[in-house]
Amino acid sequence: MWSVAQTEKLMTALRARGNQSLRTRIAPTPSGYLHIGNAFSFILTWLLARQNGGNLLLRIDDLDRARKRPEYVQDIFESLEWLGIDWDSGPTGPDDFESKYSQIHRLDLYADAFDRLRLTDRLFACSCTRREVEARSHRCACEISGLPLDSPNCSVRFRLEESCEVTINDLDPVTVRVGETHRNFVIRKRDGMPAYQLTSIVDDIHFKTTLIVRGLDLLESSGLQLKIQDALGDRSPLQFLHHPLVTKVDGSKLSKSKNDTSLRSVRENSNAAMVIKEFSHWINLPGKSCESLSDLLEQIRGIA
Ligand SMILES: [Zn+2]
Repeated sequence: MWSVAQTEKLMTALRARGNQSLRTRIAPTPSGYLHIGNAFSFILTWLLARQNGGNLLLRIDDLDRARKRPEYVQDIFESLEWLGIDWDSGPTGPDDFESKYSQIHRLDLYADAFDRLRLTDRLFACSCTRREVEARSHRCACEISGLPLDSPNCSVRFRLEESCEVTINDLDPVTVRVGETHRNFVIRKRDGMPAYQLTSIVDDIHFKTTLIVRGLDLLESSGLQLKIQDALGDRSPLQFLHHPLVTKVDGSKLSKSKNDTSLRSVRENSNAAMVIKEFSHWINLPGKSCESLSDLLEQIRGIA
């Protein structure tokens, strides 16, 4: 849950107006049905964009080909429409997404970034299996064995010293010790595909994102992505908002089954007004609870 101090800072951020250079995005992954936590994160992002007159991009991160399914892509569009969330850039529907916006169309962009990282001394090839790496907690002899980066059946890792810390520009600046938790993380997978940490930051640079809203579970990922950004020599300032995870929402109020907090199930048993109401409780919005996105905006403007 949001603490009182966090809520106050969040309200200040929400009330800030007139920052038309604000560019943010919602970036769902079509590897499962969206759940209520995604909805809250998207509503928060939408509010920050709309209150600031900024630009909101819909970006669907679909490089996990093994888990991607068309019904999950469809679910993203249906859920956003049901919630009343609109966006300024990005695909208008599943077909438009596949033909123009899938990450598959940006493989050259990720390859270019990878080639720029080659010029640094950060990368090394790793022939270890996942099990071997886990047993050695992200350390392996490959770091010093000097295998060529393009060796077959190797992943490529980004070298981090154990002492590596990154300070993230959040509601309050937060320092994460990524070297302790994520030594030498993968940026190109064994099958040659770019890994999430690389594609996510390369897309954010490409789309000129200035604000990234995501859950606290991705705090360390943000640190790793900032390390990649730095190694790429990109200096664009990135503001983050890592929100608490949605764990306290009583699923039973919104969905028949307490354990099924997928938006698909919520859509069948409830309405968007209930979700917005729960959202306004989640961010501790003062005053009456809201039942629509325009209510939310009005209320935030009212307490300015
Ligand atoms: Zn290795």
